[in-house]
Amino acid sequence: MKLLNVGIVGAGQLGRMLALAGYPLGVRCLFLDRSAESPGAQVASTLLGDLEDPVQLAELASRSDVVTFDWENISGSALAPLEKVTKVRPPRAALEVSQDRLAEKALFAKLNIPVAAHAAVDSLEELVSATRKIGLPGVLKTRRLGYDGKGQFVLRERSHIEEAWQAIGGIGLIYEKFQAFSREVSLVGARSAAGKMAFYPLSANTHSGGILRYSVAPFTSLLLERAAQRYLKRVMNALKYIGVLTIEFFVVNGKLVANEMAPRVHNSGHWTIEGCVTSQFENHLRAICDMPLGSTRALGHAAMINFLGTMPDRDRLLSIDGLAFHDYGKEPRPGRKLGHCTILKARPSERNRSLADALKWIKWA
Ligand code: AMP
Repeated sequence: MKLLNVGIVGAGQLGRMLALAGYPLGVRCLFLDRSAESPGAQVASTLLGDLEDPVQLAELASRSDVVTFDWENISGSALAPLEKVTKVRPPRAALEVSQDRLAEKALFAKLNIPVAAHAAVDSLEELVSATRKIGLPGVLKTRRLGYDGKGQFVLRERSHIEEAWQAIGGIGLIYEKFQAFSREVSLVGARSAAGKMAFYPLSANTHSGGILRYSVAPFTSLLLERAAQRYLKRVMNALKYIGVLTIEFFVVNGKLVANEMAPRVHNSGHWTIEGCVTSQFENHLRAICDMPLGSTRALGHAAMINFLGTMPDRDRLLSIDGLAFHDYGKEPRPGRKLGHCTILKARPSERNRSLADALKWIKWA
């Protein structure tokens, strides 16, 4: 059988897990990344260069049946020339919308997906007027290049407005009403070029300091799941999406409020590697390579815990029954995602016990 060649811009842990999912399918991944030591470069061939280097991007495209990305901040204009040479999936429009929190919220609102009250902020005066109009508390965020809580300031008092502006002002910002959520959940789904869709069970996500600490899935709430699927379907169809797409939601008064979307596989979907018939990584590859999508059925009750800043004692964790360990091969640095583990159990109570056990051995730095 002919091997399919997938080019991946960026060789982080998401790319690495995509490449690993590709081997059994006969998909060979080729990365473009700055570092020969990157998580992806450790498992598949890698072109070295800046992610927006036109020469290396052209080389990647010429050697690939389809190009995808593991980093959503690559500029659409850097990818545009590749479309003349090969397929670029997910579509560039989805990438561009997701890069700007304001455009993302505008798309959600256009599709009748609830979002937090918000306003664009480009000056201290606009920030003052946004806090008057929307109220306090609120979250001031950079419109672009924000991830894992970076470039965010929670504003609780009027006297902190200037401090918030000093901290992240000067570039395009958005001010959002603070959501008093009972939970954060996310929905990961895949769409094929022919418009077939598949959705994973909802994940319930626990963040701290803006970074995902752990996810528990399936989070069973028929009403929320139906609503999340309706919303994700609308976004996927509007963008003629191909690949895996994720939307993160707040649950406020029992209803979903969309926070943001990611045009790629997502940290809150890592549990699907062991926890579902077909992982999010395999389904992303299947979608972009025009293969039939695989079943997203859960095989049990899962918990996924991130390793941040420092790696835990592997053997201690491996002694927990039903635990799978993932080391991304990265140098430790505070706040950096270095790996994760997934626990899979037959019953939620067993899963919760093992989650509590594993959490005792994992320190976040
Ligand atoms: P984000 O980068 O937008 O995903 O934000 C990271 C995390 O910060 C979220 O997962 C929430 O835990 C928190 N957060 C962001 N925006 C808000 C908001 N408007 N209200 C309450 N918490 C928020």
